[in-house]
Amino acid sequence: MPPYTGWIAADLPDNRAIAEAFQLLGDLLQLEGADRHRVLAYHRAATRAREEARPLAELALQGRATEVADIGTTLQAKIVELAETGRIAALETARERTPEGLVEVAGLRGLGPKRAMAAHETLGVASLRDLGAALHDGRLADVPGFGKGTIESIGEQLAERAMRAAAPGGERIPLGRGLLIARRLSRELAEAPGVISVDIAGSLRRGRESAHDVDLVASEEHPGAAAAALGASPGSVGDDGVTHARAQAGDGTWVELIAGPAESHGNRLQHATGSAAHNVRLRERAVRLGLSVSQHGIVDADGVRHVHADEAGVYRALGLPDIPPELREDRGEIEAALRDELPQLVRLEDLRGDVHIHTDWSDGRDSLEDMVVAARARGYAYVAISDHSPRLRMARGLDERRLRAQWEAIADVRERHPDITILRACEVDIVAEGLDFEDDVLAELDFVTASLHSGFALSGRELTERVLRAIRSPHVDSIGHPTGRMLGKRDAAPLDIGAIAEAAATTGTALEINGQLNRLDLDADNARTALDAGATLILSSDAHSVMGLDFVENSVLVARRAGAPPDRILNATADLGGRLLAP
Ligand SMILES: [Zn+2]
Ligand SMILES: [Zn+2]
Repeated sequence: MPPYTGWIAADLPDNRAIAEAFQLLGDLLQLEGADRHRVLAYHRAATRAREEARPLAELALQGRATEVADIGTTLQAKIVELAETGRIAALETARERTPEGLVEVAGLRGLGPKRAMAAHETLGVASLRDLGAALHDGRLADVPGFGKGTIESIGEQLAERAMRAAAPGGERIPLGRGLLIARRLSRELAEAPGVISVDIAGSLRRGRESAHDVDLVASEEHPGAAAAALGASPGSVGDDGVTHARAQAGDGTWVELIAGPAESHGNRLQHATGSAAHNVRLRERAVRLGLSVSQHGIVDADGVRHVHADEAGVYRALGLPDIPPELREDRGEIEAALRDELPQLVRLEDLRGDVHIHTDWSDGRDSLEDMVVAARARGYAYVAISDHSPRLRMARGLDERRLRAQWEAIADVRERHPDITILRACEVDIVAEGLDFEDDVLAELDFVTASLHSGFALSGRELTERVLRAIRSPHVDSIGHPTGRMLGKRDAAPLDIGAIAEAAATTGTALEINGQLNRLDLDADNARTALDAGATLILSSDAHSVMGLDFVENSVLVARRAGAPPDRILNATADLGGRLLAP
């Protein structure tokens, strides 16, 4: 037997190509419902091929690929076949039987091989594209095993993919999704042995709309504990016990970790939160004070290093109050801090209620009562049931008859839950004629959110006109997701935000910061414009499920970035700006 040389012939398939062939063959067999062990054998071999350093094709041609674990004689023969003919017959016939595009369909969360095949057999779905089309025209509901929740989740996942594909560079993570990942990772990491505490840092903490990666800062009992828990090997350990590590989370997101002793946690967190421009300004200030500041601590004129367990300590050492992360962009925050003029920013706990939520009366997932109970559990004093109006047929918008029926349901729930104020509300469509309900119906509601869901092909002038008309309606309390943007799918409508903000300030109509992952609308710049014009903001989850109530946290972050104090937020007031009768 010739000795292994490590040389790979140019025309031999590399290990990656072998892994891909085995992976696909396993996936297709799984779709067809083949024996579990057979499927597993191909998937194991694919993993092995990806990890193996030696060239498998060459080993197989020498009859030695069986030395590699998980590769038996059958699989070795397939590698030889691929090396000699450029194809694997079994894979080609499987491909003829089952469309390859179904693998991606089956890979969606909550779908799996059975449902993917059902969609294929019932509707001829052969790819994600087909699936999207079937979802769009409502045919998916005909497929056995496709309940409302499944279909909704498919819609979300397809939108997420579109968003990722359309993101600039295809790489940036949108704020909402980034925070979900960061919160999950930091929670898991905080529970790992040897890890004392974990904080989210970087642009996600500052509330920027998208991030390159997830930045985490940890304090640990011994160097390397946090990195190990993340599945990364720590690089070199500094003499102050600080390590840096980089790892990829399961969904492909990159995580940047700085870990070290608890007593210097504040220095690392301050450094890793940034922004770069803010940190430059901070270093300049330190130099003027005869200090030098870095992630390792603050070194004084005598060369003595001082460390800080929390960020406030770092800022204090530089003669500054703790500057909120959302303001650290070098937009005058250090000067404002020196003048003691930093705004008091709205916090999640300032919110007294959520006035934009949906129930299963329209396109929400959970029942009216479940949503009320969840709102109460969050400590809210009020919640507004604001399902869609009739024009939004795709979202099963309520007509007047069903709206009135909902009021009876609300009356029932009110009796069972007297400890929270339940408002009769709606999210009424802004349409060409004005609003999608007659004035007398709107007049009977406790709270009205008016939103654009269509007409985005119109000019900015025409759309602005429509929104202004809604603002002037005496029945409209707030404008929902004002610019209508869908991150990665649809840009903000070219509205005259200045004019809208002025009109809203005059009428007392609130402008929403919608916390949906793909909306975040108004964005921080527009919200700042609104505040400057004297308008009031409202922070809404636009929840379509109990879980969705959490999205209001994104609204809070955007509002803080805009510099919004609680007294400019309508739902931070106990009486919803005078709309609730005193108890
Ligand atoms: Zn809406
Ligand atoms: Zn909504």
